[in-house]
Amino acid sequence: MSHFWTTLTQGTKNTAGSFTPGQYSVGGKKVTCPHCGNERFAAGTSQIPTAGLTFVGLEWAEQTAYTLLCSNCGRIEWYMQEPVRL
Ligand SMILES: [Zn+2]
Repeated sequence: MSHFWTTLTQGTKNTAGSFTPGQYSVGGKKVTCPHCGNERFAAGTSQIPTAGLTFVGLEWAEQTAYTLLCSNCGRIEWYMQEPVRL
């Protein structure tokens, strides 16, 4: 299990031009950090290893996940649809 999460973390990259934290919406709802309540995130994408998807029974899913990194506490939120920058 630890190797799986290490692989996920290593695959996470900031996409070009998204280094400035901003506010995002997913599914029509503004994203707020569930840990600290911050509303500013740095967006990125992560390639999910197929082996990892199979491991958790999600091998049917898209292999690109979208991440929002909280600019205050560093918590990472994962989404399977692209967050909309507000
Ligand atoms: Zn936070």
